[in-house]
Amino acid sequence: MKTDKPPTERILKGFAVSAGIAIGPAHVVETGATPVPEYAVTEADVEAERARFAEAVAKARRQIRKLKGKAGTLPEAAAEDVGFLLDAHLAMVTDSRLIRGVDRRIAADRINAEAAVQAEIASIAQTFQAMDDPYLAARVSDVREVGTRLIRNLLKNPYRAFSDLPEGTVILAEELTPADTALLDPRRIAGFASVLGGAQGHTAILARSLGLPAVLGTAGLLQGVQTGAPVVVDGIGGLVIVNPTPSTLSTYVERQAAIERERTALRRLARLPAVSRDGVVVNLQANLELPREVVAAVENGAQGVGLLRTEFMFMNREDLPDEEEQYRTLRDIVVGMAGRTVTARTLDVGGEKLAVALEGRYPEPANPALGLRAIRLSLREPRLLETQLAGMVRAAAHGPLRILLPMICTGHEVTQVRQMLTGVVRRLRRRGVDVPPDIPQLGVMIEVPGAALAADALARVSDFFAIGTNDLTQYTLAIDRSDEQVAALYDPLHPAVLRLIQFTCEAAFRARIPVSVCGEMAGDPRHTALLLGLGVRDLSMAPTRLAAVKQRLRGMDVQAAERRARVIMDQSDPGRIATLLDDFNGAA
Ligand code: PEP
Ligand code: MG
Repeated sequence: MKTDKPPTERILKGFAVSAGIAIGPAHVVETGATPVPEYAVTEADVEAERARFAEAVAKARRQIRKLKGKAGTLPEAAAEDVGFLLDAHLAMVTDSRLIRGVDRRIAADRINAEAAVQAEIASIAQTFQAMDDPYLAARVSDVREVGTRLIRNLLKNPYRAFSDLPEGTVILAEELTPADTALLDPRRIAGFASVLGGAQGHTAILARSLGLPAVLGTAGLLQGVQTGAPVVVDGIGGLVIVNPTPSTLSTYVERQAAIERERTALRRLARLPAVSRDGVVVNLQANLELPREVVAAVENGAQGVGLLRTEFMFMNREDLPDEEEQYRTLRDIVVGMAGRTVTARTLDVGGEKLAVALEGRYPEPANPALGLRAIRLSLREPRLLETQLAGMVRAAAHGPLRILLPMICTGHEVTQVRQMLTGVVRRLRRRGVDVPPDIPQLGVMIEVPGAALAADALARVSDFFAIGTNDLTQYTLAIDRSDEQVAALYDPLHPAVLRLIQFTCEAAFRARIPVSVCGEMAGDPRHTALLLGLGVRDLSMAPTRLAAVKQRLRGMDVQAAERRARVIMDQSDPGRIATLLDDFNGAA
C-alpha cells in the first residue's frame, strides 16, 4: 500500500518586523497575472511607447538583481539553484530575443507595450514547446514569469485583491509595498512574509500598526511553496516555517496562547496614568497610518495622535482626494480622538511610498530617498498642498489639530508653508467655511541630519518639533531603511544619531517649543529610558506598542535614566552604548 510522505518542514530566516505568531494556510501572491490592456498607438507615439517599455525593462533588471542579492544569503546549494534561475531571468531582460521582439512589435504593429509583451511571450512559448526538448519546455515558465514581471512594471502598481481570501490566511509574497499592506485586513489575514524588505521600511511599520505578525527579507521563501500549504510566521524569532511538523506546530500554538495572555495583561495598563516611579508625567501618543486605527489608539490609552501619516489617503487609487474628502476623513479622526490633539502630517510620498495619481509627473529619481519627496514635492505642487492644508484647517474646527511637515531642511520651506496656510485660512473664511479661531500650529519633522544641526534656526519658525528617528537614522548612517541587505547596520543607538536627537531636544528646550519623538524608537521599551533621559516627555508610536512602553515607564526612575543618559552620551562606541542601556533596563 502506498503511503503519502508528509511534506518536509522548511525553516527560513528573515527579519522579525512585527511581533506575534501567525499560523494558517499560505496564500502565495503571484508576481503577475494581471489583465493586460490592448490598444493601438499612433506613429507619433511609438517612440514614447518604446521608452516606456525600456523603463519597465530597466526596472525588471533592478528587481531581479535585488532578488539575486537576497538569494546569496541562502544555504550554498539553494543559493546556486536560485542564482542560476535568476541569471536566466536577467539574461531574458538584457538585449534578448524577448526584448528585441517586443520593441519590434511596438513599432511594426503599433500596439501598446503590454500587448506586445503578451504577443511575444506567446510566440516564444510556441517555438520552445515545438522543440520537443524537456529542458526548453521547462524554460517556458521562466519566459512567462519574466513576461508578467514586465507587464506588472508597465502597469505600475496594479492593486492586489486580498479581500476574498479565507479567514486566517498567511500571505507569502516576493514583496509587499506599503500600499499593498494597507489593504490587509487583520480580521482576515493572520500575518505575512516576503522575500524583500527591511525592518524599518513602511511595510514593516504598517505591519506593527495593524498588529500583523510579519517577517520580511526572507531568502528562498517562495521556492516550492504552494497556496494552501500550512505555514507559521514567527514575527518574534524572524522565522517562516513551511509545512511545520506536528511538534513544531504544537510549540507555536502554545507560544501563541502565551502571547495572547501577555497582551491581555498589558491591556489593563491602558487606563493607568503614564507616569514614572518618581512622578514624571509623559505624553504617550499614537502614530496612525489608517483611519481605522483610531479605535485601537483610544483603546490602548493614547493621549493623542502624535503622527498621522496622511499618505494612506493617496494610496490604492488613480485620482487625488479633493478638499472635501480629505476634510471628512480628517474630521472623523479628530472627532474619534474626542478632544485629544491630532498631529496631521502633510503628504510624505516618494521613495517607497507611492501615490499612483502622482506617478509619471516627474522623471524617476536616481535616488528616490534623496529626490523630490515629502515637503519638496508638496512645495512643487502648491495646489496639492493647499488642498491638504484646507482639509486640515477645516477638520481643526472639530477639535485640536496641529499640522506637521515632513523632511524639512530649511526654515524657508517652513515660512513658505506658513504663508500658504495663512492664505488658505483667509480664503476659507471668505468662503464662509467653519474654521477654528486660531490658525493651527505648524511643526516640523526633524528627520534629516541637516535639520537637526540647524534646529536652532528651525525652532524660530516652528511651533513644535517631532523627531523622526527612522529617517534620521537612515540619512545619518547612509543606510536605506527598507533594504534588507544593509538592515543589520541600521542602528538608532549609533552615537551620531543620539547626538542629533540630543541637539534637537536642546534647541527645542531653548526655544521653549514642544518636542516629541515619533520614529519607531519611541515604540520600543528598550529605548524609553534613554529618550526620557535626554529630556523627551512626548513619545508617539504604533497603538499596539503603547502598553509595553507605558509598562516600562511606570517601572522606571526618570532621574536615574537622566544620569544613565549622561554616561551614554559620553560614549563613542554603539556596542558600549547598547550594553549601558541594556544593563540599566535590566537593573530597573
Ligand atoms: C520617521 O522618519 O522617523 C518618521 C516617523 O516618518 P516616516 O516613518 O513616515 O518616514
Ligand atoms: Mg520620515
